[in-house]
Amino acid sequence: MSSTAGQVIKCKAAVAWEAGKPLVIEEVELAPPQANEVRMKILFTALCHTDVYFWEAKIGKLSTCSNYTGAVEVVFISQLKLKCSIILQGQTPMFPRIFGHEAGGIVESVGEGVTELKPGDHVLPIFTGECGKCSHCNSEESNLCDTLRINTERGVLLNDGKTRFSKNGKPIYHFLGTSTFSEYTIAHVGCVAKINPAAPLDKVCVLSCGVSTGMGATLNVAKPKKGQSVAVFGLGAVGLAACEGARMAGAGKIIGVDLNPDRFNEAKKFGVTDFVNPKDHDKPVQEVIAEMTNGGVDRAVECTGSFQAMIQAFECVHDGWGVAVLVGVPNKDDAFKTHPLNFLNERTLKGTFFGNYKPRTDIPSQVEKYMKKELELEKFITHSVPFSEINKAFDYMLKGESIRCIIRMDA
Ligand code: NAD
Ligand code: ZN
Repeated sequence: MSSTAGQVIKCKAAVAWEAGKPLVIEEVELAPPQANEVRMKILFTALCHTDVYFWEAKIGKLSTCSNYTGAVEVVFISQLKLKCSIILQGQTPMFPRIFGHEAGGIVESVGEGVTELKPGDHVLPIFTGECGKCSHCNSEESNLCDTLRINTERGVLLNDGKTRFSKNGKPIYHFLGTSTFSEYTIAHVGCVAKINPAAPLDKVCVLSCGVSTGMGATLNVAKPKKGQSVAVFGLGAVGLAACEGARMAGAGKIIGVDLNPDRFNEAKKFGVTDFVNPKDHDKPVQEVIAEMTNGGVDRAVECTGSFQAMIQAFECVHDGWGVAVLVGVPNKDDAFKTHPLNFLNERTLKGTFFGNYKPRTDIPSQVEKYMKKELELEKFITHSVPFSEINKAFDYMLKGESIRCIIRMDA
């Protein structure tokens, strides 16, 4: 038992008080974990673009699902295969809030009923969970746990619908059930993967979101066959991990698409063989890619969050067998519009959260792959800042300078 178990912990957290305003390091109070909850000390966390969207909180009301208006409009995102029953939860402003969801830490104490984890265990908190009991958790085809799947709108924990964080008695909202921009945080046990304690947390923390998401999008969802061509839209950490997945699958041609030419040099390390900057061409990027690949790529993976890129990724796949996978988180009011013939011509559109990995079942073995040198993580990490300079990580991402910036909590 740790000496702090059962007590309120006072710790430093980077609080977002207002949309788009720099985070402020504050001393906050964190209540003890309740039933099925785990309190962790976060050692390293990284910034993912999803944090940035919800911090910016640019967009308003909740969208609902599609209507048929001659063109197919699908509102994302959730492992859809031309099924649009799931509604995107978008960037509703919710402040004050503690962001952060890509991290590594050590269990400090556990709540009632938690038997799988104990103080001292090394863990990766994950933004989407696995209860292990529902129909999704029992399905080989889904990682969308009924209870613990990603929910960007929820700023509280499930057990009692309240926050565990507060400052001077005022609640501070959680983000994605992880809130890792804090020295200590609480998550549901189903959102915490126990990993090999020998694994360096400053490296494997990137498996808690970006790298697993991109790699899984290619390997588990797009599933390119050996020698096939793959286009990846967006060459941030998620997209480069998708490229890495394509390389691991033995793809013949890997086309990296980005608006930022600085990304191309970096991308060579991830197996990218060809580059396309849509800004360099007068014609639509779909046509450019079709010309490069004799009619279209076999697989496309979109990792930008731009709905235009999502449409381009779908429309650049080959008819007859092409598969496009959407990974980027769109804005709330975005709609996907393409001609229905693109589907009749036997193209498939899919989407995924967390690359279809089940967080507790699959992530420990990804960590083992890193330990056995079958997976390289260092090349995703371009920057590192002390916790006190967390706002710099936002600047690096917004300027397109960083792939992943690690935030060192004890510095
Ligand atoms: P990032 O900002 O590091 O990278 C995004 C890249 O996309 C940038 O290089 C940018 O220049 C490029 N880009 C933007 N618009 C483009 C366009 N129209 N065409 C071509 N390139 C374009 O972001 P990231 O952290 O790698 O995340 C990528 C996306 O994945 C984000 O939308 C993020 O929210 C999402 N995401 C989804 C999941 C999931 O489970 N589905 C998980 C993590 C992240
Ligand atoms: Zn993320």
